Amino acid sequence: MPEPVLERAREELLSLGGAGMSVMEMSHRSPEFESVLHKAEAGIRELLGLPANYRVLFTYGGATMQFSMVPMNLLAGGRADYITTGAWGDKAIAEARRFGRVNEIFSTKGSGFRSVPAGEEIVVSADAAYVHYCSNETIDGVEFHYDLDVGGIPAVCDASSNILSRPIDVEKYALIYAGAQKNIGPSGVTVVVVREDLLERIPDGLPLLLDYRTYASTDSMPNTPNTWGIYLIGLVTDWLREQGGLAAMAERNREKAKLLYEAIDASDGFYRGHAERAARSLMNVTFRLPSEELEERFCTEAERRGMSGLRGHRSVGGIRASIYNAFPREGVESLTEFMRDFAATNG
Ligand code: PMP
Repeated sequence: MPEPVLERAREELLSLGGAGMSVMEMSHRSPEFESVLHKAEAGIRELLGLPANYRVLFTYGGATMQFSMVPMNLLAGGRADYITTGAWGDKAIAEARRFGRVNEIFSTKGSGFRSVPAGEEIVVSADAAYVHYCSNETIDGVEFHYDLDVGGIPAVCDASSNILSRPIDVEKYALIYAGAQKNIGPSGVTVVVVREDLLERIPDGLPLLLDYRTYASTDSMPNTPNTWGIYLIGLVTDWLREQGGLAAMAERNREKAKLLYEAIDASDGFYRGHAERAARSLMNVTFRLPSEELEERFCTEAERRGMSGLRGHRSVGGIRASIYNAFPREGVESLTEFMRDFAATNG
């Protein structure tokens, strides 16, 4: 979370906008909360440049619940194409298989999730109900640096870990979902951006809270929503606007990531980046050291210098520096300085 957002939340914690109560104490049906929700939605709409035929829904269950909701709502007895470039995409396709026919049209699993396909390598089935991919694989540190273009087939994207990190050509997407907790707000809210025409193909009979139409027809309030989370999303979108919007964020994110990848490349092989260059993530920089023992020492010494959270995901090991929108450039500079010192001492 950006620090100014936390500060503002602290200021408003006991009384929001002179209401004499916290956002957590307000009725979600009150006009005050209604404007909080509309502000959060308007913020996302403006930053992403959403056309009028896209809806913004706030749902529950994290991005993981979207692994189920997407096929439940959109398969409609047909078959979907999936592109797997990392651990999250792998989970998404496994879940989709529980609901219907799924075709994995591209996977980098065999080569260890180090790359993403070039646009022309993607051959979509003409009758696919949708094509699913993950624009940034958080665990593996591989990112699509372009918006997938699959013509008239609806593109569904898990953008949990790079949404709002750069401008996108939103009309190339039919549905984008993201757990809020990386770039949008706190955990516990999920943002779904969906093109309206997709709502028309949803089969009847789904459980109420697993049907996108339920959220679309109730202003995302079929029951009590995560009022605190939605409020913070509004503050984060304010902050992003003050930073200059997504183009400015993209520039900063590129610079931050460049510092780290330069430190890796200049280390004479002491640090080995996991992702192929063209697929290097600007959000999650993943790399290895010559041995697991050195990786452990790296993390312990970094922690001693106040830098935590560098251990790679437990499923893959190694090192992962997550440098989302709110992560300051100075933090990246401290880390690169430490990386150079550590390599000089241990290399
Ligand atoms: N997809 C991606 C790309 C993720 O990074 C994550 C969480 N780290 C998930 C899905 C799962 O998200 P959640 O915990 O919100 O279910």
